[in-house]
Amino acid sequence: MHDVIIIGAGPAGLSAAFWCDELGLDTLVLEQAEQIGGQLQRVYNPIENYLGLKAANGQELLLHFSAGVSDASFDLWTGVGLSAIDLKTRRISLRSGEQLQAISLIIATGVRRRELGVAGENEFAGKGIIESATRDRDLFAGKDVCVVGGGDAAAENALLLSEVCPTVTLVHRGKRLRARRDLIESLQTNHCVTVFTESVLTRIIGNAEVEAVEVLRKDGLKPFQIAVRGVLVRIGVEPNSELFRDQLQHDENNYISVDSRQETSMPFVFAIGDVSNPLAPTISGATGAGATAAKIIAARLNTKVKD
Ligand SMILES: Cc1cc2nc3c(=O)[nH]c(=O)nc-3n(C[C@H](O)[C@H](O)[C@H](O)COP(=O)(O)OP(=O)(O)OC[C@H]3O[C@@H](n4cnc5c(N)ncnc54)[C@H](O)[C@@H]3O)c2cc1C
Repeated sequence: MHDVIIIGAGPAGLSAAFWCDELGLDTLVLEQAEQIGGQLQRVYNPIENYLGLKAANGQELLLHFSAGVSDASFDLWTGVGLSAIDLKTRRISLRSGEQLQAISLIIATGVRRRELGVAGENEFAGKGIIESATRDRDLFAGKDVCVVGGGDAAAENALLLSEVCPTVTLVHRGKRLRARRDLIESLQTNHCVTVFTESVLTRIIGNAEVEAVEVLRKDGLKPFQIAVRGVLVRIGVEPNSELFRDQLQHDENNYISVDSRQETSMPFVFAIGDVSNPLAPTISGATGAGATAAKIIAARLNTKVKD
């Protein structure tokens, strides 16, 4: 029986683990990926909004976080698959067959990028699907590309690609782009960028690599093709809450509902970071929520708190 089991080792889970350890709790962190860090693993741009720390990218910030927990004594298991969880008893079954139990659980499973779910999307991973404009710009320099989405991330990536690509086609299913006004203005005055609103990307086409996309306009009868060598998808994120959502209250988009203590609708089960924060997901928010949950748990377990 552990005091706390934390599920997920992104900024939220790592912060919670650090605080639980500080507060003398017997803590185990379970991470499904082989590496810790969560979304920090795919932040390729500088991070300049974490108070007191500037980092060239997510990996660099993760190095700071890892150094911060290097003296801690919590257990961290990576590459772990959870097969079942009973939140009432806080019992966890791992795919390896192992059974775990804790007095308190902290869910810190974050979010994942929403996929288009069209033919070619997975098939052309690494063969024309662009992971990040910052990281992959040089690879796609001189090539025509397509960006899907209408928010800030889609607009920012389209503008970055337009610096090196002859044409950038932005496809958005809504009537208007949702991006910040300054980004929309930059797109409108950018001669390389063509925006198709009220349009959906229906297929990614190619042989060994991406060669074209198929687009259907809402007022169109037949889809048409655009020749491109790269496709970047930024259509939002969704919470990694499948394992828990049947047992917990959540909002209409499946983000786990929590109170001001970060506690869910199930006593002794907490949720922190992006998985419970649809409105303002940030690294600082995630680490702060980790501290809150740890302090509440420690107080409940009546653990002696260090000065
Ligand atoms: C490109 C990009 C740039 C960003 N830039 C900034 C920025 O400049 N400033 C800022 O504040 N924020 C930024 N963010 C957002 C920031 O990265 C997130 O708010 C933060 O990572 C959230 O931390 P988290 O721990 O809640 O979730 P995540 O980072 O998503 O971590 C969740 C972890 O849980 C694991 N997990 C999921 N399901 C399971 C499971 N069933 N079992 C075990 N483990 C599981 C995942 O593998 C992952 O490691 C950026 C994000 C991206 C993608």
